[in-house]
Amino acid sequence: MKWFSEKNDTFALSLKIRSRKKYKSSFQKIEILDSIQYGKVLVLDGIIQTTENDEFIYHEMLTHIPMLSHPNATNILVIGGGDGGAVRELSKYPSVKITLVEIDPKVIKIAKKEFPNISHALNNKNVTIINDDGSNFIKQKYNEYDVMIIDSSDPISHSANLFSTQFYKDAKNALKKNGILNLQSESPIANINFIKSIRNTLLSLFPIVKHYFAPIPTYPTGLWSFTFASLQHEPNLSPEKRDLLTILNTKYLNEEIFHACFALPNFIKKVLYNAS
Ligand code: SAM
Repeated sequence: MKWFSEKNDTFALSLKIRSRKKYKSSFQKIEILDSIQYGKVLVLDGIIQTTENDEFIYHEMLTHIPMLSHPNATNILVIGGGDGGAVRELSKYPSVKITLVEIDPKVIKIAKKEFPNISHALNNKNVTIINDDGSNFIKQKYNEYDVMIIDSSDPISHSANLFSTQFYKDAKNALKKNGILNLQSESPIANINFIKSIRNTLLSLFPIVKHYFAPIPTYPTGLWSFTFASLQHEPNLSPEKRDLLTILNTKYLNEEIFHACFALPNFIKKVLYNAS
C-alpha cells in the first residue's frame, strides 16, 4: 500500500491508499483515491476536495445553515460543487429548484461514476446543471435567487474569481431582496486574515455578515470556516425550521450545533471583530 500526501509550503496531510486513478480535464488534474481512513477521495490539482467519510460535515454545514435561516428558499444557485454533495443536501427541501454551475464537466462525470452516494441528486428533475465559470454566469442574473451557495475550490487558479469583490457585487445583484449568500471561506488557523478580508468586502455590500465553523478532518488544519452574508435574515432557527431540521436526516448538524457553530474562539474574535 502507498501513501498520498497533499502538501503545501508548510505542511502535509497524508493518507494510506489502496489505489490511485489519475485523469486530466481542460481545467485540472483529477484523481480518485481509495483510502483506508476516509474511503474514496476526490483530489483536484493535488488538493483534497471531498472524501466519502467526512463529506457530510462540510456539505450539511455549507447548505443547511442558510436554508434553515431563510423563511422560504425555493430558487437556489450552487457555484462549484461538482461532486454533488451540496445538491444532495439541498434536494432534501420540498419544492426547491436548484441550478449548479460547475466549470468542469469532467468533475461531474467522474463524481457520478465514483461517488454515487454523494452525487445521486445531480440526476434529479429539479436540478439544472450548467458548465460555466460561476463568475461569468451570475453577471447576467438579477433578483433571482433566494440562496446562493459557493462551493468552490481554494482561491487559486479558476476559483480565484469566486472570492473577488466584483463577484460578491454580482452575487448581491443576483440575489432577491431577502437573499442569502453562503460560502466556504477556508481555514481560520492557516489564514485568518483571508477571512477578515472576505468579511470586510462583504460588509461593504451586505448588512449581515456572520462566520461559523466546523471540523473538516481532511481539509488543511482540520478547522474550516463558512461565511454567511445576508440582506435581511440573520442566522436563525424558527420553531418550524427546528422541526424541519429533525427530518432532514443530517449526520452532523442538529439544533445545538446550529447555535454553537457561530460561537467564535478568542483568536478568531480578536482578528475578525478587533476584540481584545
Ligand atoms: N468543498 C470543496 C473544497 O473546499 O475543497 C470544494 C469541492 S467542489 C468539487 C469545487 C468545485 O468548484 C470543483 O469541481 C471545481 O471544478 C469548481 N470550480 C472551481 N472554480 C470554479 C468557477 N470559477 N466556476 C464554477 N466552478 C468552479
